[in-house]
Amino acid sequence: MASACENDRMTHEQHHTAFETAYQAAQKSLREGGIPIGAALARDGLVIASGHNERVQNGDPIAHGEMSALRAAGRQKSYRDTTLYTTLAPCAMCTGTIIQFKIPRVVVGEGRTFGGEFELLRSRGVEVVVLDDPRCVDMMRTFQDNNPALWAEDIAEEDY
Ligand SMILES: [Zn+2]
Repeated sequence: MASACENDRMTHEQHHTAFETAYQAAQKSLREGGIPIGAALARDGLVIASGHNERVQNGDPIAHGEMSALRAAGRQKSYRDTTLYTTLAPCAMCTGTIIQFKIPRVVVGEGRTFGGEFELLRSRGVEVVVLDDPRCVDMMRTFQDNNPALWAEDIAEEDY
């Protein structure tokens, strides 16, 4: 009960700020020559931590944006009053982690350039909010067009 009330008290401005943190993390990764996917974990409208994909920067294939943000957040007693913001639809690995950690809500920038696992998330009771942010679509389309091999590697496809 408490978690739903906490989330409901979040203002539009707080959602906006948390999502912008995820977007800026993606932009930072892009500037570093990495894959432009960012994420942020927030509680009561306040960002706990953020992160971005680190496949290129750290040679870490598990460090998707969501995973990096969760790692940066460190140990949490509970995630039931948190929201995870991410610029792109979560993959199966990140979806599994969201389910395992019992994160109740995910706010996603876009699911056009990568479908992700919305159905699996929703089937496990996770609320999925898709912003369909054109900045995120442009960011990923440009990246995918310019780096097809790297993108294919990140989503475990032979070709893209
Ligand atoms: Zn992922």
